[in-house]
Amino acid sequence: MFKTLKGMQDFLPEEMGFWKEMETKIHRIVSIYGYQEIRTPLLEETELFARSIGASTDVVEMEMFSFEDQGGTSMTLRPEATASVIRAYLEHHMGHGNPLVKVYCMGPMFRHERPQKGRFRQFHQINLEAIGLSDPWVDVEVIEVLMKICEGLGIPEPKLFLNSVGDRKCRPSYREKLVTYLRSKKDNLCQNCIRRTETNPLRVFDCKVESCQAALTKAPLIIDDLCSECLKHFEQVKAGLTELGIHFDIHPRLVRGLNYYTRTAFEVTGSGLGSQNAVGGGGRYDGLAQELGGEETPAIGFAMGLERLRLIAKNLNPSLPLNILFLPLESNTVLIAQKLSQELRKQVFAQDLQKISVDLYTGSQSVKSALRYANKKDSHYTVLLGSEEEKRKIASIKDLRDGKQHEVPFSELTSWFFKHVKS
Ligand code: AMP
Repeated sequence: MFKTLKGMQDFLPEEMGFWKEMETKIHRIVSIYGYQEIRTPLLEETELFARSIGASTDVVEMEMFSFEDQGGTSMTLRPEATASVIRAYLEHHMGHGNPLVKVYCMGPMFRHERPQKGRFRQFHQINLEAIGLSDPWVDVEVIEVLMKICEGLGIPEPKLFLNSVGDRKCRPSYREKLVTYLRSKKDNLCQNCIRRTETNPLRVFDCKVESCQAALTKAPLIIDDLCSECLKHFEQVKAGLTELGIHFDIHPRLVRGLNYYTRTAFEVTGSGLGSQNAVGGGGRYDGLAQELGGEETPAIGFAMGLERLRLIAKNLNPSLPLNILFLPLESNTVLIAQKLSQELRKQVFAQDLQKISVDLYTGSQSVKSALRYANKKDSHYTVLLGSEEEKRKIASIKDLRDGKQHEVPFSELTSWFFKHVKS
């Protein structure tokens, strides 16, 4: 028997109701803020991710699903969406005549990580980007949307952590200081961090190894080394959040995994997730568009993991559609059952009744199997059609909730259902 690949999962029909409701709520919240949906391919040139995320990040070094296609081009299943969105923004000149492009996308991402609770190799994200302005109010709005999603889904105890990681002006000198410090602590660092000291020193803050964390207690912090512009930006973001009543904690060691962040960096955690408790995070990435060959374009965005949201969201209560099940009891009544169900579906469709499904089960010569099917579909009504019913042109309807039977002429079936279903 074949099985799903490690770190990948099937979403069965029982689960999909929750996902659809979650996605619908998210679509609604972000569109209220004026964000429009964009969809980009799952496959991109490997170089796009290497250039944007940074060649020395864990994602690019170890976690990408990459392969060469038949023409020898190295391709990668997207590990995140921002690089693709900026690629699309530049490719389609979306910024021409539009000073602020507000877009979002939802879909699967792929990272070759060690699977555990809340961590998969194929997972889904809502990814939101505001491209074009460096204004701190945009940062505030983006963070507000993230918090609204948490609120709308009922994420327990969402906590917002905020930091500034500086920009091209102030980060290089800070980086030097940090590298000097880390080299002096080399004997206490794990092998990974010794390597990171030279390739991607800020990432050392993310190391989970205790001795590394202990070695970092006196490490210089970027927040103490911000240039005046970055500091001003940070103060304005904090003031804006406070103004909106959004509580946050400053987390001076929050650096986030991807290289492209500048200035504002943030993360939100929720309770009930265990060690993988980040439900989302993001930041400003003012240099990315230029890195990808475009003009300098300030931008900010976030990504939230849908699996993690689904695991802890309290406000998801999907209801099944009301199911009307046609059961031809003999093979010679299948045709009439088909016709009647088709007519009913046509009307359901015409009246746009989203919450009704009209089902036909042709295995009902065996009553047991018919009942099993009705049970599985949680049917509300069965419409029994035997030879007797066909002869009298009357359907026997059973309301499975109250057990009552009704005899309804074929010609009145649709209006009968509409009357009963609406009441
Ligand atoms: P990142 O793109 O790494 O900033 O991650 C943003 C969010 O995506 C995280 O806060 C998680 O909720 C989610 N996420 C990231 N990686 C995984 C993964 N391997 N499995 C499930 N969710 C993930």
